[in-house]
Amino acid sequence: MQQSKFITSLSTGCFLLRSILRWFRHFTAKRHYTKNASDKGVKPQMVIMSILDKFTSKNPQQIWSASCEVAKCNNLELLDSLAVDIIAIENATKGITLGGALCPNSYHLEFALKKLRYVKNRAGCLCALYSEYMFFNPIDEEKNGNITITEIVKIDGKWIDYHICKCNKCHVSYKVEERGGHFAFWSWIKA
Ligand SMILES: [Zn+2]
Repeated sequence: MQQSKFITSLSTGCFLLRSILRWFRHFTAKRHYTKNASDKGVKPQMVIMSILDKFTSKNPQQIWSASCEVAKCNNLELLDSLAVDIIAIENATKGITLGGALCPNSYHLEFALKKLRYVKNRAGCLCALYSEYMFFNPIDEEKNGNITITEIVKIDGKWIDYHICKCNKCHVSYKVEERGGHFAFWSWIKA
């Protein structure tokens, strides 16, 4: 009886210690990045923990939801904090059947992991990832302040052929074509 009480309190203690360490690692990552980042508007720690909880939930719907949040996120501080736990996220999501209809949900997870690795390695501007994921709608990206649509090229003056978009951070231009069949998607190529 005494022994089981001891084991329970020991495992509770370990859990608390892990939680504190996890919190501390996120806090320090965020502070480190804040010193170097030009982005303002720090996302609350609650958002980071909520995305992490979804990734480690073993629930396919939650993992899909977290993956889409990361895919569309342009907040470097938030991404940097999540990237600290990339190994834990990879391990927690490994081998889980995610399902999906026309586009497999694993596509979103694979891109989210690629994006977190990219951020962790400080590999460059996030716009370089536009060509790696087919759901970056240029209209939304402009609304979110990430790019500026500098030109809309039309066919016969009626239908949109493609957009020319410029990254608001690194000023690289892209030719963006909308494609689709069962669902709309976009191809981004350096212009
Ligand atoms: Zn850029």
